[in-house]
Amino acid sequence: MSKNKETSQDAPCFECESGTLEAVVQDFETNVTGIGDVVVPNVPMERCDQCGDVVIGDAGNRIIDTYFYKLTSAITPTEIQAFLDKYSITQKEAAEITGYGEKNISRWLRGHIRPSKSVSNNIRTLLASTEAFEILKTRNWKHPVTHEPVI
Ligand SMILES: [Zn+2]
Repeated sequence: MSKNKETSQDAPCFECESGTLEAVVQDFETNVTGIGDVVVPNVPMERCDQCGDVVIGDAGNRIIDTYFYKLTSAITPTEIQAFLDKYSITQKEAAEITGYGEKNISRWLRGHIRPSKSVSNNIRTLLASTEAFEILKTRNWKHPVTHEPVI
């Protein structure tokens, strides 16, 4: 399954070529659009013992991704897949129903971009409530009103 994965054992540094990459676990600092500077704690990565350059592999990236999803409350690819599965709809149908666009839905599903807060809120609501989904799908906005609006 894993493709050409280099072990952390004595891999040479790509940056300075004289150092050796060592497996370390340390904080990862970055900037997230809309949030600002973020420190992700305990990220496994490889650090050069000479120049200090770091390489983050699959495991590290997964931890960083998970952290960002939590931080932004973004709906995850797993939840979006659950939304498609629950209503047995394709990405195309989901796009037609929600109006989000097939390309976006595909990118969210593959984890290429994180959905915004409002998108996340909407899809989570649709996932949680079959009634909400049916209303949206059928564009049946007229819902029984129990109280007349006060004018
Ligand atoms: Zn180096």
